[in-house]
Amino acid sequence: MADGVTTFSGNRGLAIEEPLIFEMNAPGRVAIDLPEPGPVDADRLAGLRRATPIGLPDLSEPQVVRHYTRLSQKNYGIDTGFYPLGSCTMKHNPRLSEKMARLTGLADLHPFQPQATVQGALEVIDQLAWWLKQLTGMPAVAMSPAAGAHGEWCGLMAIRAYHEDHGEGHRRRVLVPESAHGTNPASAAMCGFTVDPVPADDQGRVDVAALKAKLGPDVACIMVTNPNTCGLFERDIIDIAAATHAAGAFFYCDGANFNAIVGRVKIADLGIDTMHINLHKTFSTPHGGGGPGAGPTVLSEKLAPYAPLPFVVHGAGGLHLVEHAAEVPESKPFGRVKGYHGQFGVFVRALAYIQSMGADGLRQASTDAVLNANYLLAELKDVLSPSFDGPCMHECLFDDRFLKDTGVTTLDFAKMLIDEGFHPMTMYFPLVVHGALLMEPTETESKETLDGFIAVIRALADKAKAGAAEEFKAAPRLTPRRRLDETLAARTPVLRWKPGANS
Ligand SMILES: *Cc1c(COP(=O)(O)O)cnc(C)c1O
Repeated sequence: MADGVTTFSGNRGLAIEEPLIFEMNAPGRVAIDLPEPGPVDADRLAGLRRATPIGLPDLSEPQVVRHYTRLSQKNYGIDTGFYPLGSCTMKHNPRLSEKMARLTGLADLHPFQPQATVQGALEVIDQLAWWLKQLTGMPAVAMSPAAGAHGEWCGLMAIRAYHEDHGEGHRRRVLVPESAHGTNPASAAMCGFTVDPVPADDQGRVDVAALKAKLGPDVACIMVTNPNTCGLFERDIIDIAAATHAAGAFFYCDGANFNAIVGRVKIADLGIDTMHINLHKTFSTPHGGGGPGAGPTVLSEKLAPYAPLPFVVHGAGGLHLVEHAAEVPESKPFGRVKGYHGQFGVFVRALAYIQSMGADGLRQASTDAVLNANYLLAELKDVLSPSFDGPCMHECLFDDRFLKDTGVTTLDFAKMLIDEGFHPMTMYFPLVVHGALLMEPTETESKETLDGFIAVIRALADKAKAGAAEEFKAAPRLTPRRRLDETLAARTPVLRWKPGANS
């Protein structure tokens, strides 16, 4: 070990080396004792009867419990410590929202239940939709997309359906700023559009002149993130929207950064036609492990008729989930984006969060998120290199100029942070600045936490400038695993255990 400590066991203090559960197999050991099964009627299995052993490991119950408990402890998450990933909004999730989502009356519903028995659940969807429309000022919302990227795709499909319906199916080009999240061009491509990148100006915002020059009769829409992925509000957004509409195109807004402006900006006032909301970034729901999330997508008057099935309407006999276009004559749904009605558990968390915060609380949260990011920016700008002048929104962006001639890279810097007990910030994104370090503290962090983080970053920046490249290159030194070959791991992942492989 680089810190000079070796152990006989290979464990590091109480951080225990964990084998795969298959490697712990002790044939014949059991956790439960079931009676021998009677003779099996082979015919009932329609030829699918297993001919070989099932291949599961034999273990005692305490072994299983310890294995999975230890694995869970290897997760670093928002409940463990500060998680300043930019472009992700990793914020604390109130336990109240979690408790609501676990109420049996909500958690044990089945999507095939008759609608008369799930009126309360439909009310949850309907009330949440009301709040999302209220907070954005938009007239309609498609609730079923399962994530932000899925919402992008949903909004783009509505745009495509509108154009096709109006004899404008040739509009297939989509303008996407270079600073966009990778999901934007990916969603556009999934819709069959071609992606035309728009450069950023030297202040990290959309180059409006370049965007206007690219508008034309074949443009279906633009996709602009606001606040953008450099953590900046797009000041020319109204001008951008007007030029886009004048060219007959729609304005798709990536609303993943809604957390920064809830209660302060009405989306409808900006000329936006459709925008997804990452419920898992703005309105509670743990999402560090990659899901589940939800991406309800608000729609303008023009796009609303093309919203996907199913959707909730107020009928004579109560709330009604519309499953077929024929039920609502004025609707022209482009199809469905998901089985059933969307991510119900995430809806429950979002509604619980919104109702417990109240309108004033939501506004306070976005205000504090921006304040915290500007606090980091103000306290770090003399030792790091801010990419752009002036204040930021919910996240602050630095590039690697402060590391010039030190031999230390953004990656090395981030790895040193792990030894100090902090999850690294987002690195090398957005691509429009060199060696990016993107930090998003969110509103839920205390001043003490931010001060601790600031002190460490300042000390590391000084250390890098003092010529400690070797030490940075060796980081992390205090973790059970050292620097991994991430390229090799991504290119040649070993995802399958084979008997005898490790023994
Ligand atoms: C997170 C994010 C997305 C994608 O959202 P998912 O829910 O992860 O699919 C899109 N755009 C931006 C700017 C984001 O931060």
